[in-house]
Amino acid sequence: MTRVYNFSAGPAMLPQEVLKQAAEEMLDWQGSGMSVMEMSHRGKEFQSIFDAAERDLRELLAVPANYRILFLQGGGIGENAVVPMNLVGRKPQPATVDFIHTGSWSGKSIKEAKKYCNVNVAASSEGDQFHTIPPRDSWKLSRDAAYVHVCTNETIHGVEFHFTPDVAGETGGAPLVADMSSHILSRQIDVSRYGVIFGGAQKNIGPAGLTLVIVREDLLGQALSICPSAFDWKTVADNNSMYNTPPTYAIYIAGLVFQWLKRQGGVAEMEKRNIAKAALLYDYLDATGFYSNQVAVDCRSRMNIPFFLADESLNDAFLASARARGLLQLKGHKSVGGMRASIYNAMPIEGVQALVDYMKDFEKQHG
Ligand code: PMP
Repeated sequence: MTRVYNFSAGPAMLPQEVLKQAAEEMLDWQGSGMSVMEMSHRGKEFQSIFDAAERDLRELLAVPANYRILFLQGGGIGENAVVPMNLVGRKPQPATVDFIHTGSWSGKSIKEAKKYCNVNVAASSEGDQFHTIPPRDSWKLSRDAAYVHVCTNETIHGVEFHFTPDVAGETGGAPLVADMSSHILSRQIDVSRYGVIFGGAQKNIGPAGLTLVIVREDLLGQALSICPSAFDWKTVADNNSMYNTPPTYAIYIAGLVFQWLKRQGGVAEMEKRNIAKAALLYDYLDATGFYSNQVAVDCRSRMNIPFFLADESLNDAFLASARARGLLQLKGHKSVGGMRASIYNAMPIEGVQALVDYMKDFEKQHG
């Protein structure tokens, strides 16, 4: 068996230990005589899997007791509608929501939210081709915003917030809402600084189909009447994420990933490794004229690293030889072009080293 290094932005690599355990348990989960996929979500076996996953995630992110963790479906794109439907009801209608536009994903959130509220784009880096994050003191927040939305890691443009903005003072107490789909669990965060954190699982957590929402309790119970019950966070929280059938197998795999993370030393250790992995690639990109990354140094993503060949006519050759060396999915998003290496928690430093070694060889050959 040959495992490749998969640099996909998601669905993405999972730890091999997790895949092995899942394979071993596929036909008979711990003497139950069945696969996790076949279990009732209300049975005691699945309940034990669910409880462990929630407990481990709470521990990994140090989620305070006054926050609920919800296991949902619908993905990050679903949350673009679900978040406003749950939060704009905090204010008289039509409410205003503040957005910081830092790339494609916050852009999609803005577009969807317009169906449910007035949108104020409080700051945007569109004029910089999304190579920067607008400094906090340039944001024009509304005095009565229902909430402030940020995407703390823009998967396509490769920009990441390396600070947690304070927004409450200027907005009359608006909660900060963060789309952390592509870097949750990659670094330490102070959950208490956020009202809501959400993310799809298929990048840094587990399989597609599971969506996580971490929400402060006082923000529950204000959903618009048009909000589907299955996406009303209060209904979901009151039913411990079992109002409808949750994505059971995805939760099981996510739970195995949480256990793996704990064995590695938790999020603090992952953050150290992710800093080292990203530095390996950025240092090389900055040292060579053959490739480049255009993102401002202080907001470069540790997870998604877009880069360009100076001679773009070599793009196809670059990708083909990479594939031949077991380095897959390096093509950049079509909206940006070039290349992109996504290096989530499950990508070992050996994978990043193999990529850099390959890039050096390719440069030698073609430079
Ligand atoms: N937000 C971010 C930051 C993402 O990277 C993605 C997926 N690439 C999404 C939202 C959308 O997620 P999904 O496809 O699961 O709806």
